[in-house]
Amino acid sequence: MIYCVMPYVIEGLIPIEKTLKKDELVTDAGAALIRDRVEVIDFQEKILQLAGGEKITYEKLVIATGATPSIPPLPGINLRGVTGFKTENNLRTFLAMVNAGLKKVAVVGAGAIGVELAQVFQSAGVKTTLIDAEGSVLPNMLDPEMMIKPREELIRQGVHVILNTRITSLSGHEYVEHIQLDNGEVIHVDDLDECSLGENLPIKGLMAFATGSRPELSLVKDTSLEVGSDGIKVNSRMETNLPDVYACGDCVEFTSAITGKIISGKLATNAVPMAKILADNLLGRERHYQGFYNGGATKVGKYFVGGTGLTARNAASRVIRVKVGFGETTSKFPMMPGTTPLRVKLVARAEDGKLIGGQILSGEPVAAGIDLLTYAIQLGSTVNDISQLSYSAQPYQSFMPAANAVVLAAEDLLQGG
Ligand SMILES: Cc1cc2nc3c(=O)[nH]c(=O)nc-3n(C[C@H](O)[C@H](O)[C@H](O)COP(=O)(O)OP(=O)(O)OC[C@H]3O[C@@H](n4cnc5c(N)ncnc54)[C@H](O)[C@@H]3O)c2cc1C
Repeated sequence: MIYCVMPYVIEGLIPIEKTLKKDELVTDAGAALIRDRVEVIDFQEKILQLAGGEKITYEKLVIATGATPSIPPLPGINLRGVTGFKTENNLRTFLAMVNAGLKKVAVVGAGAIGVELAQVFQSAGVKTTLIDAEGSVLPNMLDPEMMIKPREELIRQGVHVILNTRITSLSGHEYVEHIQLDNGEVIHVDDLDECSLGENLPIKGLMAFATGSRPELSLVKDTSLEVGSDGIKVNSRMETNLPDVYACGDCVEFTSAITGKIISGKLATNAVPMAKILADNLLGRERHYQGFYNGGATKVGKYFVGGTGLTARNAASRVIRVKVGFGETTSKFPMMPGTTPLRVKLVARAEDGKLIGGQILSGEPVAAGIDLLTYAIQLGSTVNDISQLSYSAQPYQSFMPAANAVVLAAEDLLQGG
């Protein structure tokens, strides 16, 4: 699956077939592809046991088993219809339910996946409630004041947004029907259009968890492979503690490139660079992975938002003193058609002025701007360096020459925020 586009299938924007990766992706490179489940790894004898009965020997082994949605152990969590959102089966079930006339859904977790899911359900005509324990939407990507307008936009779309609230239990007969919240509210999710309920429809009520993921480690459980709290332990060459065994992607635990401390980074944009570094090391080209910066972006109605590194709030929780600065301008020259307001926030370490995070809110795509900020962090740039950024300007595609929002934010920060 190409997971990133899965939500947009529910909305009908793209057909499900376009989310499925083709075998040729592997076979065209000359590699053999076996579609089977590895059940046991014998690290001693270097043998993999497949579910289909086949045994495969290896010289070098790469473990890239990914992650599975993490669903908290609440009372009632085993009711049918309570699910994560990761597999083709999840997506087909959601689609079938929407097509069968699903009327209500609860999405738990207001990170990027939860926010995207909530919007596509709502736009498909399903009354959607989005619940998060934190006080703002996308709490790990942007600071709350950057999210005021996107949150209003979610509400304008019809999504019922409940923040600062935890789920205490779920109830129902066979299927999830009611969600009890710690603020006393009860959300009902069992409404499906009775007359359009197909015989084979697997579930009735629906509640989707998008509360992060945990590494898929069932294959290496109780083995000599060293595992940490967030995945398989690897060094910067992606080597595990066992000879000839490597690991990369969502199944590994790694550190933040900014703080050097273990941080979650279960993103395709981390998995791919890790895989390339692993491959280079296997081929004898020594390379080292720096760690996670966790740049990411999403879309909330008419707004594009993104963040990289640490938010000011995340930094505070790690006891890092920061200074922040803001730059506000327009996405294009202000007199050009289709221009939208744009806001940049920079977060720098107070002690040395080094950039450790950045956020952008705009009516136009922000991913390229986020990548620029990530690169500045990667290079160890200070806010002073960023205030001297050399940039291009053209009426259709940039800020006004005198109003580069990143530079303005750096200047604001240097002037005390
Ligand atoms: C809905 C959704 C949206 C996302 N959007 C984004 C986004 O916009 N940007 C972004 O950067 N990231 C996004 N991500 C995260 C991204 O998809 C993951 O970080 C990325 O797929 C990790 O790659 P991986 O190869 O480590 O794991 P995966 O892609 O999960 O691949 C692991 C594979 O291993 C297989 N496997 C596991 N165990 C076994 C076994 N025992 N035998 C054989 N095979 C096994 C699994 O079936 C799976 O195919 C999204 C994720 C989801 C779920």
